[in-house]
Amino acid sequence: MNHFEVRGGELHCESVPLSRIADEVGTPVYVYSRATFERHYTVFRDALVQAGVVAPLVAYAVKANSNVSVLRILGDLGAGADTVSEGEIRRALAAGIPGERIVFSGVGKTRSEIAFALKAGVSEINVESEPELKLVAAVAEELQLRAPIVFRVNPDVAAGGHAKIATGKAENKFGVSFAEAARLYVNASNHPHLNPLGVACHIGSQITDLAPFEAAFRKMRGLAESLRAEGLTVERLDLGGGLGVPYFNQPDPPAPAAYAAMVAKVVEGLPDIRLAFEPGRVIAANAGVLLASVIHLHERPEGRKFLVLDAAMNDLIRPAMYDSFHDIRPVRETDADPVPLDVVGPVCETGDTFTRERLLPPMGPGDRVAFMSAGAYGAAMASEYNSRPLVPEVLVDGDRFAIIRKRPTYEEMLADEVPGEWR
Ligand SMILES: *Cc1c(COP(=O)(O)O)cnc(C)c1O
Repeated sequence: MNHFEVRGGELHCESVPLSRIADEVGTPVYVYSRATFERHYTVFRDALVQAGVVAPLVAYAVKANSNVSVLRILGDLGAGADTVSEGEIRRALAAGIPGERIVFSGVGKTRSEIAFALKAGVSEINVESEPELKLVAAVAEELQLRAPIVFRVNPDVAAGGHAKIATGKAENKFGVSFAEAARLYVNASNHPHLNPLGVACHIGSQITDLAPFEAAFRKMRGLAESLRAEGLTVERLDLGGGLGVPYFNQPDPPAPAAYAAMVAKVVEGLPDIRLAFEPGRVIAANAGVLLASVIHLHERPEGRKFLVLDAAMNDLIRPAMYDSFHDIRPVRETDADPVPLDVVGPVCETGDTFTRERLLPPMGPGDRVAFMSAGAYGAAMASEYNSRPLVPEVLVDGDRFAIIRKRPTYEEMLADEVPGEWR
């Protein structure tokens, strides 16, 4: 459920008509619903608690939507943050999320990033390889502390809607194998500057079926038990993110309650374990839209019709990168019969096509459309490609809204580009 709905023939975000935001802020612009973010986080956490999971750490995956105002909404509700760079840790801290609720993941953390994370007191560093384990140990020794680590293992399970977002197969770059995990866990347990807490997995994104999760989680439980059987301490099980969302006309993903019940069943009878989760998309996707204006309707003589928007692949890259589907809705409802339209942006790439032959009411210059379910992996992946200033972001709260990331001016876009002194 989300808070984008038609009222009086006009698409609203909560109680604010999207056309008002378009008039005042201009387009393209991302628009987020605070109530939807709050609802999605609360539904996910409550589902776990109601299924019997005690004190879960729900570490929102910052990369899905990393605006500090969004992080603050979630952090104020008690969310943690799953981060993959120093920049993301800094964002989480800036949003008031304490280190003890921050997870630091990623396959290529640098020495300085690890030092920053340790000094920030993160809850766990998810170690993804043996060389990384050595690096974390060296940095912890330099800082004279014990690094809280969790081994990210690769459960070798196929999952994820698209090859580019599947992460849990042995051929992917993520995590150590089960055999390596057991050996490295022993080493780490004997190291004065490492404090191994447990194991983690994250098998992919936009997963719309519980079976791969369950297969992976059963393997994780088995790993925790076999490590314990060797006398090692395992107190944390981080089950990652990846739960899919309905992007429209796709199979309905499992509800958080079904996911939580499955988790509870898998860990039943495993004592003294704290579970962590890293949901991103399921919290953010349906909490945001990308609002755009029509520049032209270009009709080819042979019949193809192109709806040219002021939003482009640099603002929303998912269709170009993952062939993903976004529902596109006119901001003002009309009775006109829909026609097949190719919806494109102005960027000089054929890939800058959001969809082909989508049935939409005929529209003309100045009309507005909303790309639905764009709150995750939308603004966070935006760029200035084609020298288009970075897309701004707006947050709606009831009947008011705030610009939470302003549109840069052209002067600002160019300001950091300085010639070499020898030019
Ligand atoms: C991307 C990522 C997530 C979040 O994935 P979603 O599909 O958005 O839930 C969680 N954990 C890790 C390690 C990730 O890389």
